[in-house]
Amino acid sequence: MDIRSLFPLLSQTIDGKPLVYLDNAATSQKPQVVIDTVNELHTSLNGNIHRGVHRMAEQCTARYEAARESVRGYINAAKAHEVIFTAGTTAGVNLVAFAFGERYVKAGDEILVTEMEHHSNIVPWQLLCERKGAALKALPFADNGELRVDMLPSMISKKTKLLAVAQVSNVLGTINPVDEICRIAHALGVPVLVDGAQGVQHGPVDVQQMGCDFYAFSGHKIYGPTGIGALYAKEEYLNEMPPYQGGGDMIKAVTFAKATYADLPYKFEAGTANYIGAIGLGAAIEFSKSISPSAIRLHEEELLRCATERLQSIGGLTIYGNAPRKSGIVSFAFKNIHHLDIAQVLDKQGIAVRSGTLCAEPTMQRYGLTGMVRASFAYYNTLGEVHALAEGLEKAKSILS
Ligand code: PLP
Repeated sequence: MDIRSLFPLLSQTIDGKPLVYLDNAATSQKPQVVIDTVNELHTSLNGNIHRGVHRMAEQCTARYEAARESVRGYINAAKAHEVIFTAGTTAGVNLVAFAFGERYVKAGDEILVTEMEHHSNIVPWQLLCERKGAALKALPFADNGELRVDMLPSMISKKTKLLAVAQVSNVLGTINPVDEICRIAHALGVPVLVDGAQGVQHGPVDVQQMGCDFYAFSGHKIYGPTGIGALYAKEEYLNEMPPYQGGGDMIKAVTFAKATYADLPYKFEAGTANYIGAIGLGAAIEFSKSISPSAIRLHEEELLRCATERLQSIGGLTIYGNAPRKSGIVSFAFKNIHHLDIAQVLDKQGIAVRSGTLCAEPTMQRYGLTGMVRASFAYYNTLGEVHALAEGLEKAKSILS
């Protein structure tokens, strides 16, 4: 299968040069099947779900629930009602920070994150800690980008109410040993939220084997539409946690005296859901399932190996994150050239990368930097594009030095 031909956007040119899209950790491009699915719903099948009895409403409802089943299967959740549709990873983490926090966190407690988290897995916990008078702690990582899992037991105490950790760092590319982390935390009585934003697009996930209590991801990073994602949460927590938002569809009955809440998962899906996004996400997941996970792994490893080799040989360039288990992300900085300038010169050559703090200021601070450049790969990227990046960087260096 020619994977690139399935993604119409990839064949365009930028200023006459072929687009080299290497910003997949920010968002992935969409295959035709996802575009067609969303388009079909907007043009010929649109009815608000869980409400109307007319056939379009019923068909949309059925397809929304089928999408939930697709997500359930892809992450191997035990039950479909443990999958909550959200607006994305950020929304999922905020849901847990609010609802778990309301139920389980009090003054003097602690929430543990890691030093390599994205702001989306830091700030919601900070807000919770401020609300409750709790404290936020961060598990460090070593210079090569590996989490100091050895320090985890000593950082967990009776006060620790939850551990939140990225499956894959969006800066360092480190694939964290989340199974082991869950085992250690659980042995000490602490539930774990795994931020799957950079993990889920590299092949199916098994939340039961991982053992996490919560798992959040975004649809747009796994070939799906923006504004949709999912949160997996163990039923026992969802039953105990209060609703995050109130509104239509999340209630059983309402009087001015009291409201009773709908069964799972609807208790956590207030208002008109992004059902078109969810159905698009379902199509994206079915698309992902059609690619062999080992083919994805092998190809992305080859891209990473080639990029690391080529970039390492560019004078003045340092790669940050060299953990033994790494995903297709290469972040780097030049000694005397600003990261923004590099990204702009690459853009002029049709090469799209990310630059800046990468929504992970504490990771930048860890290395004493104000920003980095990041190239991130998807299954549709080619070795030719990796070479184009290396040549583009040499050119940028010679222009900017
Ligand atoms: N967590 C990580 C590790 C990420 O890389 C990102 C986005 O880049 C997020 C969370 C937030 O994802 P979103 O903006 O889709 O909610």
